[in-house]
Amino acid sequence: MSARRICSQLLDLIFPPRCQLCRSLSRDLLCETCRRGVLFIGQRHCACCGGPLRDSPPESLPGGLCPDCRERRWISGARSVGLHATSLRDAVIAYKFRGRRRLAGVFAQMLADLTCAEARGPGLPLDRCAAIIPVPLHPRRRAWRGFDQAEAICHGLAKPLGLPVWTDVLVRVRDTTPQVSVPGNMRRTNVSGAFETRKQWRVAGGSFILVDDVMTTGATLDECARVLKYAGAAAVYALTVTRAVPSWHPHLQTLPHLRAGGAVDA
Ligand SMILES: [Zn+2]
Ligand SMILES: [Zn+2]
Repeated sequence: MSARRICSQLLDLIFPPRCQLCRSLSRDLLCETCRRGVLFIGQRHCACCGGPLRDSPPESLPGGLCPDCRERRWISGARSVGLHATSLRDAVIAYKFRGRRRLAGVFAQMLADLTCAEARGPGLPLDRCAAIIPVPLHPRRRAWRGFDQAEAICHGLAKPLGLPVWTDVLVRVRDTTPQVSVPGNMRRTNVSGAFETRKQWRVAGGSFILVDDVMTTGATLDECARVLKYAGAAAVYALTVTRAVPSWHPHLQTLPHLRAGGAVDA
């Protein structure tokens, strides 16, 4: 047995590995019970934004698009792992506000699995993207939080996707009010002009994956996609760990504070 392995087993004895969410003993960073609590979006979703489509009455919209995507979006397509509810919501909050930064690796793996599934099926052509770009925090907010939650997830995604992470082409130039505190219909205005591109020559003609932790109305992702497309990007796709629960969703009946366009606490 190697010295490194002995060390690692000794450390496991002193500090047994625990679930990063519920703290129960677990080899995985997110234990089996917490994983089972995730409300995955599944197959029945909008072809563009990836939001869940309602079953009853069935939404048979042109091109399989949700009502929001009938209006023009800048984002070329988006996908999320699950709804901003139950254990995945708790994990995002623990990650951002309770210092459980190792969850970045769990989220990155979930997004990598999602990307592979898309590439295998008739989904978004994420396998043809040139780089991963995090939705940037304003430097002041980053300093306050001590880390950039989207960037850390991107670094975990880089290896499984075999793509570089570009942190210098999209910058936040205005420290906006957090979208969670802004009414749904004001969110586009709130982020308007908040982002700028740098080194446009790197962006021109390429397709990119934007990454953020939570998607609420999608206004932030859309604004990022808008400036990247103005800089010449051919396509901008988005991946987020969670997305707000739509107002019609049955899960909302038990958790009324999780309404899309309303406040999500992350
Ligand atoms: Zn757990
Ligand atoms: Zn949609």
